[in-house]
Amino acid sequence: EVETNMYFTDTALLAGRLPARDQFGHKGTYGHALLLAGSRGKIGAAVLAAQACLRSGVGLLTVRTPAVGYDILQTSAPEAMALTDPAPDFLSELPELTPYSAVGMGPGIDKAEETKHVLEQLLRHAKVPLVLDADALNLLGANPELLQLLPADTILTPHPKEFERLAGPARDDYHRLELLREFCRLHRCYTVLKGAHTCLGTPAGELYFNSTGNPGMATGGSGDVLTGILTALRAQHLPALDAALLGIYAHGRAGDLAARHTGQAGLIAGDLTRFIGPALQELT
Ligand code: AMP
Ligand code: MG
Repeated sequence: EVETNMYFTDTALLAGRLPARDQFGHKGTYGHALLLAGSRGKIGAAVLAAQACLRSGVGLLTVRTPAVGYDILQTSAPEAMALTDPAPDFLSELPELTPYSAVGMGPGIDKAEETKHVLEQLLRHAKVPLVLDADALNLLGANPELLQLLPADTILTPHPKEFERLAGPARDDYHRLELLREFCRLHRCYTVLKGAHTCLGTPAGELYFNSTGNPGMATGGSGDVLTGILTALRAQHLPALDAALLGIYAHGRAGDLAARHTGQAGLIAGDLTRFIGPALQELT
């Protein structure tokens, strides 16, 4: 029997999900996000995720990069606090987690053994919502014992290659969606299968197809921006389903708004960050 539970993410589905900003809110009201990101040669991914996180309403942001990222981050995202890892080139130690209301890990990290250890410690000890992307997902795929530690309601953001490493090869697009359903049910997680028609799978076995975005977003760093947005929304205490639906939609909408200025070919990931605010504004 063919299972449905499929939805289309449009503005009607999103109505009422993004809380209005509180007149008397202060930075503590909007959470403190931690991003674990970057390695030598990929500090830009940490910068993009940080800028996107800051543009998505978070109260405070701390970014953990390897030591090589310190000056770069402080210069390109001065609103964020830099808490650098002692290792020069890749993440090697998990910082104290008590200050944070959500943690995003993955953009620009690598698969070093030390970084795998950081991920394992995060999965074992985090008591707040997690967003996992990029090599954090590849580490999960290569070490199935880590998948067993995944806290419920974690958001994962694989592109199709990363999803294949997590859930195995798909015969075709339809089979990939069935694998997505099964994977989310089994691991009680929300998985954002990214692409031209990004699909969110939920622990309840639902599939939500996004309606925004354009091929201009097929450019390095687009996914890092999404990780920053989702981490910010989770840090602001939004439920995983609302954060994922809103974040995916606003990311694509920011791409559509940016492309009006740059054209699709001229779009680069950094352009997206400028339009996250307007995209979110449309949803309030
Ligand atoms: P990543 O591969 O991690 O950089 O992620 C790429 C991001 O760009 C994802 O959010 C995709 O959904 C988005 N993207 C890539 N190609 C397209 C496309 N042809 N149409 C719409 N969005 C796209
Ligand atoms: Mg990526």
